[in-house]
This record gives sequence, C-alpha cells and structure tokens, in this order.
Amino acid sequence: METFITPAEAHAIIHAQIRTLPTVKATLLAALGRFLQEDIIAQEDVPPFDNSAMDGFALCVADLSAAPVTLKITGEIAAGDTPAMSLTQGSCVRIMTGAPVPDNTAAVVPVEWTRMETDSDVRVTRMPAAGQFVRAAGRDLRRGATVLEKGVRLTPPALGLLATAGHRSVRVSAVPRVTIVVTGDELFMESGSLPPGKIRDANGPALAAQVQYAGGSLVAVHHARDDKAEVADRLDQALHESDVILFSGGVSVGNFDYVNEVFDAAGVKRHFWRVKQRPGGPLSFGMCGAQAVFGLPGNPVSSFVCFEQYVRPAMQRLMAAQWTGPELHRAVLREALAKTKGLHHFIRGIACRDVAGQLEVRTTGPQASNLYSSAAAANCLIHLPQELEHPFAGQEVDIEWLPWAVPY
Ligand code: AMP
Ligand code: MG
Repeated sequence: METFITPAEAHAIIHAQIRTLPTVKATLLAALGRFLQEDIIAQEDVPPFDNSAMDGFALCVADLSAAPVTLKITGEIAAGDTPAMSLTQGSCVRIMTGAPVPDNTAAVVPVEWTRMETDSDVRVTRMPAAGQFVRAAGRDLRRGATVLEKGVRLTPPALGLLATAGHRSVRVSAVPRVTIVVTGDELFMESGSLPPGKIRDANGPALAAQVQYAGGSLVAVHHARDDKAEVADRLDQALHESDVILFSGGVSVGNFDYVNEVFDAAGVKRHFWRVKQRPGGPLSFGMCGAQAVFGLPGNPVSSFVCFEQYVRPAMQRLMAAQWTGPELHRAVLREALAKTKGLHHFIRGIACRDVAGQLEVRTTGPQASNLYSSAAAANCLIHLPQELEHPFAGQEVDIEWLPWAVPY
C-alpha cells in the first residue's frame, strides 16, 4: 500500500485499478448523460421522403420560370398524407410544411409569395428557384451513415437524433451502484432536537447528491456507530450490493477509527491511505475484486472535496468516460492565502470574469475543513500545488469549476 502520495499519484492509482463496467442496452431517456458504447448507424433516411419546408404550393418545372403566373389548385396535401398526385403545367397542389411533395415537384412557393384569385386559382407573385423549399430525403442523415460514434456523451439533442434515426434503445456502460456508509457515534440520524454531544449527518445527504449528480445510482445510505463489528457488517452488506462503496469518517488515527482495519480484515486490497493534501489528507482507497472502496475523511468539506477529486473520476472510469485529470483554468488570485508547503490545497473559491474578461478568483472565506458553508458558497476549487509557499494577491493560480457551477 502507498502512503503520503500526491493527488496525481492517487489519481493514477485509481485510474489503473478501475475497469469500465459491462455495457447494457438502455432506453433513450435512461441513456441521458451516459457514454455511448457502440457506433450508431442510421436505420433509415432522415427525412424519410422529400417534403415541403413551407406552407405553400408545389409546382412543376414547366411553371418555374414565369412569374407572375396564375395556377389552378388541383389538390391539397397535409403533413402525414401519402399523396399519389402528379403536377402538370398550369396546375399546382396546396401543401403544408412537412407534407410529402408530389413526385415531379420542382419547387414549393410559400403562401407569402402568392395571392388567391378565386377559391381554386392562385397567383404566384414571386417564383422560387429550382428545388427551393423542398427538403430532400436523407438530407439530415443517409440510411447506413454513422449517426453518433462510440464514446460520445448522450445529450438531449443527441437522444433526439437517435430517435429520428430509428433507435429506441442504445448500448451504454452500466451505471455504477453506490452505497454510502456514514460512521460516527456522534451522528444523530433522526429528525427532532439534537441530543447533547450529537451532530447531524451532513455527509450522507451531500454524498448521496454528489453520487446522483455524477450519474451514479444510489443504493443506500447506512449509518455505522464507531464499533468494529458494526462497521464490518455495513461493509459486508455494501459489498453485496454495489460497485462503489463510500465510507465517511473513521479513516484517521483516532482511537475509534476502525474503517481501514475493517477494510483490511474484509479482504479489501488497500492501494493507498493518506494523500499530501488539505483538506482530505487521511483519504483511503482500495479494491475488493472489481469493487472500489473509498474511506473518505469525516469532516464535511474533506468528504466533499475527496468525492469531487477522486470518487467522481472513478465513477467516470466505470462509465467509460474519458478522464485525463482535473480540468484546470488559469485565474488571478485576488487575495493572499496561507499555505502549508508540501501539501496540495483545495480552496473553495468563487471565480468570475473581470471587466477585461480575465478570470479572477476569491476564497469563500475561512477554509477550515469543518466549515461547510465554505463549500456551499463555492463555484470552483482553487488548486494550490504542493510546492507553492506563499500564494499572493495578483498571482495566477489554477481553478477547477465545480460540476454544478455554470462556467463564466
Ligand atoms: P472522523 O473522520 O470520523 O475523525 O471525523 C472528523 C470530523 O468530521 C469529526 O468532527 C466528525 O464529527 C465529523 N463528521 C464525521 N462524519 C460526519 C458526518 N457524516 N456529517 C457531519 N460531520 C461528520
Ligand atoms: Mg469518526
């Protein structure tokens, strides 16, 4: 097991240990946000037939050149119709947007370019060019063409595209199932007034939300008291139901911190414990077969930061997402900060663009790892690397947007 490693080393270990989950067929809506695991081929032409782009009149080639001209209306085609009509010189067919055009249609003239002379005679005042306002079959997608390639993330319009190409379900990687176990005798899990010495559980609800936000499937949030047998029992249960198991609390060196000991006894192969970072130093990570097991430090900010830095990438890897490290952006730091040399600091920040368009960042205030309000106010994490000693106002630093922040 590695210990006192850097965040980059921790990422590398997690990346090396975790394998993508098997693929499954998912309905389109269930596939939202997931990564496509097959190339998708168009089953049919889109649009499937030549159709009108306007409400207007379909004309044949013989009438194209002369405008103004008066034409006899010989029929009407609505969207959804299957007309067996043919156009002849001097006649036209009234047609609606999306309706199939007659076979020998040369163009569609929009209603706005015409004037009715009688109920069945229309005056064309402006002539469309050949082919104008006719949407050709296969213009969007040709049958047999690749619609989307393996690996893309499925967005709402991507799902719409799949549907138009004739697909109702697609192959994506399975969603990781995640169990959370919050540990601590001090945690009061019920509602109602707090008994003396107890605190409310922050990490259970926050981690559950982070799991959901990262695209995982939350199996359960359990509580274990600081009791070895109880912690072991929760781990055993979690190993039966999940791909990722998150413990919060009990991974440090206190007298009642049993989590790592229980991991080892249960056969979890621990790959690291302790990362040269603040917050979240006592982070622990191991594998039990293909299942990933994290011991997140109990302080709410540590738990939150460790999830975003390590658990989210692990879940992405399980879901076959490309992940090449945190996505960093340069920003001007607007205040001097205290920093411990040798540790990578993750500071909760608020970043925005100044009048010149330059990204600038401030902290959310005091940064102790028990001050949860510092996390709730943040839109980014400021990365202060290990070697940095005295971050000063005006210097450039790296920031990473939090997933729920809309980047400026
Ligand atoms: P631990 O990692 O168990 O030593 O916990 C570190 C600190 O985080 C202690 O002050 C705990 O009371 C607190 N803590 C642990 N778990 C939670 C939790 N689920 N919600 C809020 N605070 C917690
Ligand atoms: Mg504890």
